[in-house]
Amino acid sequence: MTKAMPSDIRETASPRGKDTRFVIIGSGISGVLMAIKLLERGYRDIVILEKAGRMGGTWRDNVYPGVACDVAAHLYSYSFARNPWWNSRYAKGADIWAYYHGVARHYGVLPLIRYYAEVLSAEFGEGLWQVTTRDGDVFTADVVIAAAGRLHRPVMPEIEGLDSFAGALFHTARWDQTIELADKRVGVIGTGSSATQIVTALAGKVERLSLFQRTAQWVFPVKDTPNSWWTKLRFWLSKRRWDDYYRQLRGETEARGKAATSTVEGRAARDQVCHDALAGIRDPELRAKLTPDYDVGCKRLVFSDGYYEAVQHPSVDVVVDPIARVVREGVVTESGKLHELDVLALATGFDAHAYIRPMQVTGEGGVTLDEVWRDLPLSYRSIAIPHMPNFLMINGPYSPGGTSSVVGIAEAQVDYILQLIDRIVEQQVQIVPREEPARAWLDGIRAKARDSVWGNGGCQSWYLDKTGTPTLDTSTLSELQEQLAEVQWDHFVERPR
Ligand code: NAP
Repeated sequence: MTKAMPSDIRETASPRGKDTRFVIIGSGISGVLMAIKLLERGYRDIVILEKAGRMGGTWRDNVYPGVACDVAAHLYSYSFARNPWWNSRYAKGADIWAYYHGVARHYGVLPLIRYYAEVLSAEFGEGLWQVTTRDGDVFTADVVIAAAGRLHRPVMPEIEGLDSFAGALFHTARWDQTIELADKRVGVIGTGSSATQIVTALAGKVERLSLFQRTAQWVFPVKDTPNSWWTKLRFWLSKRRWDDYYRQLRGETEARGKAATSTVEGRAARDQVCHDALAGIRDPELRAKLTPDYDVGCKRLVFSDGYYEAVQHPSVDVVVDPIARVVREGVVTESGKLHELDVLALATGFDAHAYIRPMQVTGEGGVTLDEVWRDLPLSYRSIAIPHMPNFLMINGPYSPGGTSSVVGIAEAQVDYILQLIDRIVEQQVQIVPREEPARAWLDGIRAKARDSVWGNGGCQSWYLDKTGTPTLDTSTLSELQEQLAEVQWDHFVERPR
């Protein structure tokens, strides 16, 4: 992979802003990206605080059977770190982790990471941030960048008796890989993207698979074609070919993403693909179980090569009888039936609204993030937060999602952040967004989101906040890049550092 990358930036960039200290929170895709771009710009005093013992965020945490990314691999790469060696159209979780680890190593990011350094608080005073970790270490920073991710705090379901289960029980993001599954009766609770990948991987490979479905999912079938050695070689030989393919995938994804947020007519072609796939389920009883009662794309669409085949396997049981409780032997459903299990996987998702929290962040004048975000996670363009000078976010609340690759979105946000950072360093200022433009921006995003299928498609999902409004921007990557191309400086207050 590294063969196709640009030369090492440590040799090319001259140091600047030597006395500017950066703390990045999180070493996932966005945190690593931020560090690369800071190094490229010549900044050197950078620390990445990582709560775990390895880098990689989502792709470190999720090692469940079948874990993969349903965004095409070339598009799920940094645009500047072309990887010609992806094995197939969609990459497996382990390959994605290896890619991002390889990029971090290549760009000199790994030595910047402090592991087991969970940030508990960040406090602003006298122009500086003091960032404190669980071990009591304190890092002083001029600029803090939160790259903590939206989907990393597992939600454990509130089901009676969960603790009484005698077999192995874990959340999908805490999968126990030491357990041999072949001869086991496995239960999976949930039908989101994680569960559907697990079911697709395990159907026919375990003794029995019980899928506990509370809500049916719409599934958009995709084909995961392998990349031949010749295809890989051609990507390696020609950067242009790689870039063309990247652009093609980006265009396709944006078109599909646009459909997600357009009118019923605008979505018709995409939605028909899902209806046709569902119609292919042979057993009418099973088809009825799998038929959602809300609009296609209201919940995050499942893109799958094989889920519908998997649920039709004779060893798979789709259980729609609601769960009553968990007992020592397995799961009891409301009809009183006991589903005996050896392993129970909780594919019950993540608390997407815990972004940054429970970290305690205290900004200018002692104003806390909890106070600023009491009603809604107010920010300016999902990047800067009123009352929090020189504190910036990547992929924060109301970032675009479901319309483009999250990697491209992070790149667009980092480009904007770099404009702010250059100003902070060159003008020796603190920058903080004004509250009125932040509120105006947020109102606009929320209005668009409410009008989208995520808001009015008749479903519950992790997209929605407590008011029932999606916490996602409906913009595509192209639109976001346009919006973030130039900073409107009058939307910020600047003070000398
Ligand atoms: P999720 O989409 O939030 O799904 C959680 C599932 O658990 C839902 O089916 C939910 O049912 C069910 N559930 C929750 N509590 C339950 C309870 N008490 N009883 C029964 N069922 C319960 O979580 P996820 O599958 O982990 O995916 C989260 C997000 O991660 C995805 O939307 C996607 O953005 C990302 N992801 C991406 C990929 C990829 O390939 N790119 C792969 C995996 C995940 P209800 O629907 O009824 O609430």
